[in-house]
Amino acid sequence: MTRIRWLTRHLRTLLFGAACMTLAAGVSRVGSRVPRPRLVIVIVVDQFSPDYLTRFQPYFSLRGLNLFLQRGAVFTAAKYEHAITFTCPGHAVVLTGSYADANGIVSNSWYDAAKNREEYCAADSSGSLIGGVGEGRSPRNLLDSTVGDVIKLATGGRSRVITVAGKDRSAIMLGGHLGDAAYWLEDTLIVTSSYYERELPGWVRRFNASGIASSYLGKTWDRLLPVEAYAAAGDDDVPAEEDIAGTGRTFPHRPVRDASGKGFLEAFSSSPFHNEVLARFAMQAIVEENLGRDEDPDLLAIGFSANDLIGHESGPDSHEVMDVTVRTDRLLQQLFDFVDVRVGLKNVVVVLTADHGVAPLPEVMQKRQPAAGAARFEPSRVAAAAEAALAARYGQLPGSRWVVHHDLPLLYLNVRALEQRGVSLEQAEQVAKRAVEGVPGVYQSLTATDLAEQRRRGTHSSAELSFYPGRSGHVFYQLKPYLVPGTGSQGTTHGSAWSYDTHVPLLWFGAGVVPGTYATSVAVADIAPTLSALLSIAKPSGSRGRVLRKMLR
Ligand SMILES: [Zn+2]
Repeated sequence: MTRIRWLTRHLRTLLFGAACMTLAAGVSRVGSRVPRPRLVIVIVVDQFSPDYLTRFQPYFSLRGLNLFLQRGAVFTAAKYEHAITFTCPGHAVVLTGSYADANGIVSNSWYDAAKNREEYCAADSSGSLIGGVGEGRSPRNLLDSTVGDVIKLATGGRSRVITVAGKDRSAIMLGGHLGDAAYWLEDTLIVTSSYYERELPGWVRRFNASGIASSYLGKTWDRLLPVEAYAAAGDDDVPAEEDIAGTGRTFPHRPVRDASGKGFLEAFSSSPFHNEVLARFAMQAIVEENLGRDEDPDLLAIGFSANDLIGHESGPDSHEVMDVTVRTDRLLQQLFDFVDVRVGLKNVVVVLTADHGVAPLPEVMQKRQPAAGAARFEPSRVAAAAEAALAARYGQLPGSRWVVHHDLPLLYLNVRALEQRGVSLEQAEQVAKRAVEGVPGVYQSLTATDLAEQRRRGTHSSAELSFYPGRSGHVFYQLKPYLVPGTGSQGTTHGSAWSYDTHVPLLWFGAGVVPGTYATSVAVADIAPTLSALLSIAKPSGSRGRVLRKMLR
């Protein structure tokens, strides 16, 4: 139902756009000797700083990441332009070319005031998981179309659009509304949602039944390379004596051993083994779905998610991140070799990026650059300051709160209570904003009214690009650089508008791509319109990116 409703709403615009572009493309391709790619592969590594490409390149294989670095197009200054650099918003940008201001994916989840609960970006309670147990997932919260949607429309549905990832939100946001299937790993099984299929296809059931994931039971994650190679990553590894009760925070990591218990699943999903299963599944999808076999271009998007969990736990300077990056490189070489045999690399275009970067561990940054002010930050202080200021101004709320929800970096105010007391929302936002700005560590705060005003004036700040009225709450704030929010004393995160979070790799290889190093400042939002140009189809309707023309043959 959802898909049909979406289609009726958008079909006309999309079909019209696609028809126009096909006409235009027909003209521009006269005399062009660049064949249209038969298969587009989009790879999104969850949490990947561009400096990994230089730091770890000596350890890359010949045709993994080096396929891009030595024979492809490398954009060294690619970034996200929005402020809330979490997984769901990042993946939503990659193939829509639009930001939350248009696609509505403001964060991984947001507060739904009408329902008085959190709404997950890929939630769909009208459906159910297929191959697993639980509520359904779908792109119904994504308010824009993707490259995959346009491909489906442009070829009358003949193209196949398949996405696979470690996280549901990654596979779903990359796929869009008309994708044939989005698959992800739920524990050790590949699953999908009733939005896409009534039951798992036979080949997916066979893949699950083969027990590939559980074959990692008892395996220990240790360094792939000789230990000396990791010296370049520093010696910030957790000393063994601090590895309390086998939490596995250092090499060799605890074996992923406990077949039934949580221990296995946690260790598995935050190990490179998770990516290995996904890569195997992606290659199987190429065979079973006959991707790249005819003139109608197919799209396969792959989201590697374990890199993010590992990065959160150990930080970008750890041996773990170096190791999972080198192992990801090996998987890419396997994938590219496989695609070369099956489809031929000359018929393929591959793009690789990340959904966000990551902040260094504050403790590492304090040693490296003491003046940078790196520290850990307790985010509950922000909501508490806003609550106290609102209570001081408008009185206590018996049995309730003025700040009804706080999901960093967004605060949601109690609109009903404000209405009941005759207080203007705009004024209450200002009270909360001033209190938030008074919290040490807060860099700036903007209200929904400020951001709506920016939009009216056409000022596209990063906060404004992350803002969608009704989802974004009432007060946005940004922490000072190198402050890592969280309640624990370990690990790191991302989600800010600072360059370590927004700056990501952007690598291209394949049909129609002019190899080279491009130092100009570009955006991840440029991927969607550039792919559209390579495929001679319309760009997704909400795309605000630019075509990377210098790179196109
Ligand atoms: Zn993350």
